[in-house]
Amino acid sequence: MAGSRDPIEDLRRIAFLLERANEATYRVRAFRSAAKALAGLPAEEIAARAAAGTLTELAGVGEVTARCVTESLTGEEPVYLRRMASVEGGDPGAAADALRGALRGDCHSHSDWSDGGSPIEEMALAAVHLGHEYLVLTDHSPRLTVARGLTPARLRRQLDRVAEINEQLPAGFRILTGIEVDILADGSLDQEDDLLARLDVVVGSVHSGLRDDEARMTRRMLRAVENPHLDILGHCTGRRVSATGVGLKGAGDASHSRTRTRPPSAFDARRVFAACAEYGKAVEINCRPDRLDPPKRLLRLAVEAGCPFAIDTDAHAPGQLDWLMFGCERAALCGVPAERVVNTWDAGTLTAWAAAHAA
Ligand SMILES: [Zn+2]
Ligand SMILES: [Zn+2]
Repeated sequence: MAGSRDPIEDLRRIAFLLERANEATYRVRAFRSAAKALAGLPAEEIAARAAAGTLTELAGVGEVTARCVTESLTGEEPVYLRRMASVEGGDPGAAADALRGALRGDCHSHSDWSDGGSPIEEMALAAVHLGHEYLVLTDHSPRLTVARGLTPARLRRQLDRVAEINEQLPAGFRILTGIEVDILADGSLDQEDDLLARLDVVVGSVHSGLRDDEARMTRRMLRAVENPHLDILGHCTGRRVSATGVGLKGAGDASHSRTRTRPPSAFDARRVFAACAEYGKAVEINCRPDRLDPPKRLLRLAVEAGCPFAIDTDAHAPGQLDWLMFGCERAALCGVPAERVVNTWDAGTLTAWAAAHAA
């Protein structure tokens, strides 16, 4: 059983965490009884029963506990345990608040230079008002014509404009230069290399061919993650969920339909997240209520893979810069550690991290 975990230990651990979270006694007892039932059996018999699906024939073992044992024997942390462990220490609301408090800026925002609704200055002043130390301006790249993506010439002009605006902004705050660059069909990035190299932070996103088959999408994303210019993988599944609670009317983001939902694209998340961890590229936790991307299941995978993260609003208007909490809540539920979130770092640390990718 190379690589397997100890299923009895996992069952006991779940019981302990349930107990500490003050869950109902019968739930705790279910896991303790299952652990006790298995403790008397040889490991081979447990494995054979798991393979044959006959664990539930044992007194004290139910459907849920049997599934935990089966998962454990494959060497994977049982989903149930992972879920308990992610909210360990109790209150996810408090964890989300703490994470929000630790954020110093935002790494994904749009102005009226592409499909945002407001000038750069207004976005910057709203970010100052929120207490940010920096805002990365990430307008779209040339091929996303529907969102008025910036040609190389326009991006060069924008860089000059940002430098001017930065002169006028309060001390202690600055706009960092950036782009949300399209990841093209072959995985290359939709902007000139020398320009990408000049930018402080590069977010790369898939906006086209979202229904590519899994193998093709995986290759495409892996190639982008390996690109030394890319720092953050934007809204990785591209899904659109119907937003509730927040009116998205006039929310900008002309690159997509505002009203329709869209399923997540298919890609091998384990491989893509392993590459992000290997190259030190951040997986974006997109805060937009109509995106909630990545979904929690994938977010947990990325946590386990050891990826860095960026909690980004993808704001297309000043008020949307205050959407960080939507991402913090999901991050807290999935056990994202604050120190692995790149926008909890100061601007100097963040830009040095991004620059190191291309070094
Ligand atoms: Zn996007
Ligand atoms: Zn965007």
